[in-house]
Amino acid sequence: MKKNKGFILILSVFFFIPLLSDFFADAFYLPISVENRRILKQSYISPAGEFGIWRKPYNKIRGHYHAGIDLKNPGSKSGAIEPIYACASGVVLSVWSNRSSSCVIITHNLRAGGMVYSAYTHISDIVVSAGDTVDQYTVIGSFIDRPKLDKWGEYLNHIHFEMLKVRPKSAGRVNGREIYASYSIDILRKNELNKFFYDPKIFFVDK
Ligand SMILES: [Zn+2]
Repeated sequence: MKKNKGFILILSVFFFIPLLSDFFADAFYLPISVENRRILKQSYISPAGEFGIWRKPYNKIRGHYHAGIDLKNPGSKSGAIEPIYACASGVVLSVWSNRSSSCVIITHNLRAGGMVYSAYTHISDIVVSAGDTVDQYTVIGSFIDRPKLDKWGEYLNHIHFEMLKVRPKSAGRVNGREIYASYSIDILRKNELNKFFYDPKIFFVDK
């Protein structure tokens, strides 16, 4: 009897570990096309694109703490069409196509329990839909191309990348499907920043 139990346990481990591994985000990868996507230094973040800096009011956007990091287009040519990838295994929670502020949000289950949500803003040509299962190799869209940058502004030649600790908020329905939004411009105090967001940099390695 005892022997049987042990055997079943071993069998279950062999069968379920490969299955489960698809559902957990064990490692996170930069969502941009660089040689080693685990290494933070392969990306370029300008001082103005850092997490947690105070952003003054701009256009119609009120002042707020910067809730993500701005990852520059890694292409050799400015405005090059470059892919944007999911940063880890997960399920697409929401796709919001809204010109320059288009956004994809992905839910990730963590093996230790709980969830994190990754959000990609200023994303163009989105090729995933809500409910899609993704992993770090899934292209979800691309950087904004040259003609659109000329129209909307050169400063959009980056993606705004966030890691949320809490579930994004409902932003109504589009074509019968609920869409979600981040708290990106809601953050007016530093303690709120840490309640809602991780510094995305902690998910990658230095070397
Ligand atoms: Zn940003």
